[in-house]
Amino acid sequence: MPESPAPRPRRVVLHADVDSMFAQVHQRDDPTLVGQAVLVGGTGPRSVVAAASVEAKREGVRSAMPMSTAVRMLPSYVIAAPDHQRYRRAGAHVMAVLEAHADDGLVEQVSIDEAYLAVTSVDPERAAQRVVDAVVAEVGLTISVGAASTKLGAKLLSGHTKRVLGPGSVTWMDDPELLAWMATLPARALPGCGPVTAAALHDAGIETVADLRTVDRVLLRRVVGKAAGAALVAAAHNHASSTIDPPSERKQVSHERTFTSDLATAASIGDAAASAAEAVAGQLDRAGRYARTATVKLRTAGFDDRSRSRTIAAGTRDAEVLGALARELAAEAWEAAGEEPIRLVGFSASNLSDVEQPTLFA
Ligand SMILES: [Mg+2]
Repeated sequence: MPESPAPRPRRVVLHADVDSMFAQVHQRDDPTLVGQAVLVGGTGPRSVVAAASVEAKREGVRSAMPMSTAVRMLPSYVIAAPDHQRYRRAGAHVMAVLEAHADDGLVEQVSIDEAYLAVTSVDPERAAQRVVDAVVAEVGLTISVGAASTKLGAKLLSGHTKRVLGPGSVTWMDDPELLAWMATLPARALPGCGPVTAAALHDAGIETVADLRTVDRVLLRRVVGKAAGAALVAAAHNHASSTIDPPSERKQVSHERTFTSDLATAASIGDAAASAAEAVAGQLDRAGRYARTATVKLRTAGFDDRSRSRTIAAGTRDAEVLGALARELAAEAWEAAGEEPIRLVGFSASNLSDVEQPTLFA
């Protein structure tokens, strides 16, 4: 028998979504809630369900439903008060585990409990399952994952996973399978197809993703407009991004202080600017960043803001260098402010980089 070729590693995009996150966090932290219908929200007459556990959703409870309606649908239930700090901590913990498994450590977080990442493996389904297992082991929460060649495909599949397979599951499809499955979806499953667009498409006889692939372009343009029509057709063919875009890094570091009595001498304003610069140097140091641009902002007692900036050739986070710049810029800004008494002094560093060297391609 001819030997089959060794499988080649391939890159797939994962969309990871924590299952019913808020409710799950309560169940994780209080074992008596496991298996119970948990409703997160208030108990006042106008309260709505902020989140519901899978047990409550199984009975038809949905987020944003009045709490009074939800409790009538359930034979038994527990209401938990929202604890957003706890959810944020859990979300950050999940993201850290995802980063540890992601190609290049890159995670594109899209909400407190949802993110895209890429993994490269000969067995994408197993790689995705490893991510699910790691989150369970390290955070104690289940996530559902969709895996596909694009972010769009991954997102559609994670929703499918949640609905059809249940919490903690994975669905991976290669492109032919994904395209065949997508053809069966209603057009409104695609991003950019809200209720208004869906209704307009319906009136024109366009119901499914398959319809969008074959629709007359002139008709589609007339129904939803040129740009929206083109976007829908592209999505229907899974022509979509597969780039993981982590949230952009901090663009600047700043520190400012308002004084209880106004500063009215060049020396006291210079000192205040230098001390703000020192605080910024400390922040840059902790962040491992260097800055090329320094800015001083002064606010007069009459609430008139003046600022002065300077860009230097090489990045720095040296407190003395930044302090000296701060004094010079403060003197210039104070002159611009007509030497009015000053109530606020701020310093910010921008044009940040990871290296001390001058930027060659600036
Ligand atoms: Mg979720």
